[in-house]
Amino acid sequence: MKIRLAAPLQPDSIVDGEGIRVVLWTQGCSHHCKGCHNQETWDFKGGYLVDLEEIKEELNSIQGQDGITLSGGDPLFQVDACLEIVKYCKKINLNVWCYTGYTFEQLLALNNPKIIEFLNYVDVLVDGKFILEQRSLDLKFKGSENQRVIDVQNSLKENKVILVEKYKDKKNYDFKKKTAVYL
Ligand code: SF4
Repeated sequence: MKIRLAAPLQPDSIVDGEGIRVVLWTQGCSHHCKGCHNQETWDFKGGYLVDLEEIKEELNSIQGQDGITLSGGDPLFQVDACLEIVKYCKKINLNVWCYTGYTFEQLLALNNPKIIEFLNYVDVLVDGKFILEQRSLDLKFKGSENQRVIDVQNSLKENKVILVEKYKDKKNYDFKKKTAVYL
């Protein structure tokens, strides 16, 4: 199986999640958020194809990482390939963060068994589109106030969004009221 990437694996990132992380930059995104920093990753025919076996070999050879972060682009558009990658990452003891333009609720509503299976291997999901008007440089690991740093395994267990306690901001986003609210 192959995956379409925007860039080579990027080890030693300290800004794409907790600890030292290798980042997988997937190619392809149809969310088209205004102000997106990675517009070159939107084209589903852009980037280049890589065999998953090559990615696994490379992951194996990169030392000193706490986890992997799937970003892009939106990894969820290539869920089959991403599922294989996160399964492998768990085998080699890398924790898994994933960025997506979908909200957690939207992902569940897609009713796609592959997405649910994928989420079962994800520790932390940073969800939601980037909203330029809600951009803040004070936020940890996210770009705009609507986005959430979600504890995926507890959220799946409790059937509601549970945020990672230490990355909760004073403000969070109420999706029903479409506004930031103070916790
Ligand atoms: S989801 Fe991410 S990559 Fe896609 S348009 Fe929005 S900010 Fe850009």
